Amino acid sequence: MSRKRSWAEPYKIKMVEPVFMTTQVEREKFIQEAGYNTFLLRSRDVYIDLLTDSGTSAMSDRQWAGIMMGDEAYAGSENFYHLESTIQDYYGYKFVVPTHQGRGAEHLISQILIKEGDYIPGNMYFTTTRLHQELAGGTFVDVIIDEAHDPDSEYPFKGNVDLNKLETLIKEKGADKIPYVSIATTVNMAGGQPISMKNLREVRALTDKYGIRIVHDMTRVAENAYMIKLLEDGFSELPVADIIKEICSLTDAATMSSKKDALVSIGGFLAINDEEIFAEARNLVVVYEGLHTYGGMAGRDMEALAIGITESVQDDHIRARVGQVHYLGEKLKASGIPIVNPIGTHGIFIDAKKFLPHLTQDMFPAQALAAEIYIDSGVRTMERGIVSAGRNKETGEHNYPNLELVRLTIPRRVYTQAHMDVIAESVEYVYENRNSISGLKMIFEPKYLRFFQARFEKL
Ligand SMILES: *Cc1c(COP(=O)(O)O)cnc(C)c1O
Repeated sequence: MSRKRSWAEPYKIKMVEPVFMTTQVEREKFIQEAGYNTFLLRSRDVYIDLLTDSGTSAMSDRQWAGIMMGDEAYAGSENFYHLESTIQDYYGYKFVVPTHQGRGAEHLISQILIKEGDYIPGNMYFTTTRLHQELAGGTFVDVIIDEAHDPDSEYPFKGNVDLNKLETLIKEKGADKIPYVSIATTVNMAGGQPISMKNLREVRALTDKYGIRIVHDMTRVAENAYMIKLLEDGFSELPVADIIKEICSLTDAATMSSKKDALVSIGGFLAINDEEIFAEARNLVVVYEGLHTYGGMAGRDMEALAIGITESVQDDHIRARVGQVHYLGEKLKASGIPIVNPIGTHGIFIDAKKFLPHLTQDMFPAQALAAEIYIDSGVRTMERGIVSAGRNKETGEHNYPNLELVRLTIPRRVYTQAHMDVIAESVEYVYENRNSISGLKMIFEPKYLRFFQARFEKL
């Protein structure tokens, strides 16, 4: 028997940012003025902000010290060389091209590798990743296992690739039509679900057989590596840093949004092992991002990122990060709140169809629930359901996605266990009073990505 030790934070707090409590009457007014859309709230009117884990991490004192050491030379900044060697040391990729954020790297690799008519299989799509593949003339094909689309499946590695789906696609289209397989660690759109090392090794073996590359979306690779350590046979004794290195070694290139696991507010990079692709990427980065030694980042941002990477791979850090998310998830489950299972690594996803069974999907249950949680406690969440899914291009009808979710995304190192308790208390209170929640009517609908700016009224 090992001694019990909770996931408590491996840091202490030395600077705070005050947040303001508001009254329920004030919040009713704020959300009404925001058209019942949490994206349109002002952040000063939010008590606990769970809109996203992107760019919202708290930086360490070391990272802030790094900000002061920014070498803002146009070319050859010291901070670039520090970032480059950190990426080589911790991830093992040979060549590095910095970009302003993850989508900048996705743009470069898509333009370089994808030709008109190509297919890009992947373990579920991500919005910006797929869009860049399509803009380069490719078609994304979902080859994730079926369990990933089922909110009730308890399968531990819902980020796994279905090897049959992948091989069928390769045989059908031909390996020359598939420039690479796109592998995300963890899978954001499936609710922060990991891929197993066993599955990734099998994907490597299969792609090697056909001479196809793997491009790794490594935005949340530390969280994925931690889940492998926790759940997969043979990894419990290994440091997370070693698991990360093996994941990266099984892939040929990587795109990174450093706004997530890497603990900074802005930045990203493309990392590559092939020298020719690197040369091409260095050519292109100058056109779209900036010179190849800054790629849209300030020197100080590259320094904070280099330090953030070293902190993000520490076992104590990642255990506390995922531990906090799971603490909230377990608490909600214990109160009978319907959430997506298993609990992911960066947030909790409430099943709004089950939470509000009296509302039909065209009454926007997830949108209504996010507004209701805000009114109750000032906790800001977001909709991932029919509003996010948009309309069918041909028929003009709403898309009716299977998953109608409210996302509670937890920023890294920002909130305490007491905040998690308040969030859970609020969701529980709203759940007890769920029968009085009415649906919404959309009164303004933007043409693109409507969830950001759509406005609603209570029915
Ligand atoms: C956020 C994200 C991206 C895009 O990164 P940005 O830095 O927002 O451009 C790509 N893939 C995944 C999985 C992400 O979560």
